[in-house]
Parts: sequence; structure tokens; C-alpha cells
Amino acid sequence: MAGGTVVVMRLLASAYAVAEKAGTIVRNVLHGGDLGIVEKTGVNDLQTLADRLVQKSICASLSKRFPKLTIIGEEDLPSETVEEDLIEISQYDAILQKPCPDEYSNLKEEELVVWVDPLDGTKEYTEAARLLDSPAVIEKLLESQRAPTRLLDHVTVLIGIAYEGKAIAGVINQPFYNYQMGADATLGRTLWGMLGLGAFGFQLQEVPEGKRIITTTRSHSNKLVTETVQAMDPHDVIRVGGAGNKIIQLVEGKASAYVFASPGCKKWDTCAPEAILHAVGGTLTDVHGNTYQYSADVKHMNSAGVLATLRNHQYYVSRVPQSVLQALSSN
Ligand code: AMP
Ligand code: MG
Ligand code: MG
Repeated sequence: MAGGTVVVMRLLASAYAVAEKAGTIVRNVLHGGDLGIVEKTGVNDLQTLADRLVQKSICASLSKRFPKLTIIGEEDLPSETVEEDLIEISQYDAILQKPCPDEYSNLKEEELVVWVDPLDGTKEYTEAARLLDSPAVIEKLLESQRAPTRLLDHVTVLIGIAYEGKAIAGVINQPFYNYQMGADATLGRTLWGMLGLGAFGFQLQEVPEGKRIITTTRSHSNKLVTETVQAMDPHDVIRVGGAGNKIIQLVEGKASAYVFASPGCKKWDTCAPEAILHAVGGTLTDVHGNTYQYSADVKHMNSAGVLATLRNHQYYVSRVPQSVLQALSSN
């Protein structure tokens, strides 16, 4: 069935458009120079003005068009009127042109749950801003080849769509993609995918067979995480921020497994990335190899960690140490 008439395709097309707007907001807040950082309750858990504005923009835009949708966003924000200029009403036409997989063509708005991470990699976003000499001068940022600015690649905006507890579609915007290409480059990109349809907005690539490159957290590591990474017998370990960014590394052939053997990631971190990864034949589970559920009533924390791969998932599950499996119960 043509996507333009199907609820889930229209929702995905709206999610794409609002994720692009979100990318602009994330860039503008950095450009503005004042990130408005607030420390949340957890250790190493920050919120910026960009997290707040983007969540408002995504939630208000989607609920305006789809009032019966359940939307769960990471940030705990007071309910207040959202400024008109944060609302995005357009839809990405290329998604409306795609055929909807049969099994999803009759889904109703009220059956869908949307998980929103307005800014994934907030820690790296704030560090990048601090490391830049003058965050108010974006041109300087664009020209810079210095390592600290690579942190901006870690930042993404995540919108995942779930049906009957399963992540079925997702959108990832990477606001600073291309920043190292100079002032003339177009900044940012949007990746999207849907089960049964595939994933778009990037070139699917694989790490050469037999090479184990592990991508893991750079700012939320602990003993369980490092023990598990080492148990994978890696040829190389990459430590970067963001769940969205790490899934991009998997599908672009930069890493073979995303290993995070710890609580810390939440459903809004994994829903969109999981849908895109699964759309190209990959797998995201907890460290036991069990899948997560994304219904509206599930607990937000992914307590048994995250293990994601494009291929050979079972190998990585089989290498998780017994002590780690015992420490991270699957429930
Ligand atoms: P990371 O790989 O450390 O960037 O984590 C991926 C996502 O999970 C980010 O949104 C983090 O904020 C979140 N996360 C992971 N561990 C923790 C933690 N210990 N506390 C709060 N958030 C976490
Ligand atoms: Mg996140
Ligand atoms: Mg976030």
C-alpha cells in the first residue's frame, strides 16, 4: 500500500522532518554559546537548553498531527505552551512514497508508542562546547580539525516508533555530520529505517570478517563494562559517546559490536537505533541475548545492558563473562 495514506508511514515522515528541525536547534544552541546546563539526578547525567527545546519541538509537533499517539521523552519538563516556531508540520516526501510493509499498513495511531531522546550524547556535546575556544563562532568550529571537536559526531537526535512492544521504525539525526569538511559543507544528516523496508540515509558497510572492533561508552564506563569488552577478545576498542552514534558505527562498518554491560541506557536510547539496525539484519539485545520491549508501560532503564551487532551476535553473547551475567539480571 502507498505510504502516504498509512498512519505509520505518515508518522515516520513527520518524525524525519522534525528530527531535521531538531538538528538545526542543536546547532543553534551551540552557536548561541550558552548551553544552559542542568545536572539531573544521576551521576554524569546532564541536560542542556538543546535537550529541552528539541524535546518540546518533537513532542508538540508529533502530537499536533497525531493526537492519540503515546510519546515518551527522556526529559522531565513542565507542561507549558510550546512556541509556534518550535512546531514542524512538514513531512519527508520520500518516506510517503515508499510502500508500507503489509503487516504495518493498518496500525492505528493509538497503538503506536514513540520514544524520544532529544539529544543523545549530551555529555560529549557539553564537552565539545567547553573545549572550543569560542563556541559562539561556528565557522571556527567548522574549520577546526582538532580532536576535541570530533566529540560533535557523537551527538544525535533519536525518534523510535514501537508497536506491540517492538521497535519497528526509527529516525536518527546527526546534527554535526560533515563539520570537518569545511565551511561550505552541508551540516547534518538523517538516517531512518523500518522493519521490512530497510534503512536509508547512509551506505551500509561491514567490518571485514573476523575483525572484532568494539565500540563502547567513553563517559559511563565501569568495571563490568571494561571486563566485558576485554572478554570479547577485541582487535580494537573505540570509546565514543551516544547510543545513536554507536549504532551508526555498526552500520557504517566502523565497529563490529556495541558493548555496554551496565545499566544506564534507557528505552529512548535504544528504540530508534534498534529499529534501524534490525532493518538491515542486525541485532540489539541485553547482554544475555534477550530483546527489550518498548510498550508504554515498560521500565525505562535497560538494566541488563546493551549488546548490538550487525553480524555474529551469538559470538558476542557467548563471550559475556558469567560474573557479568549474574550482576545484570534480565527482567
Ligand atoms: P554513552 O555510551 O555513555 O554515551 O551512553 C549512551 C546513552 O546512555 C546516553 O544517552 C547516556 O546518557 C546513557 N547512559 C549510559 N550510562 C549512563 C549512566 N550511568 N547514567 C546516565 N545515563 C547513562
Ligand atoms: Mg541518550
Ligand atoms: Mg538524551
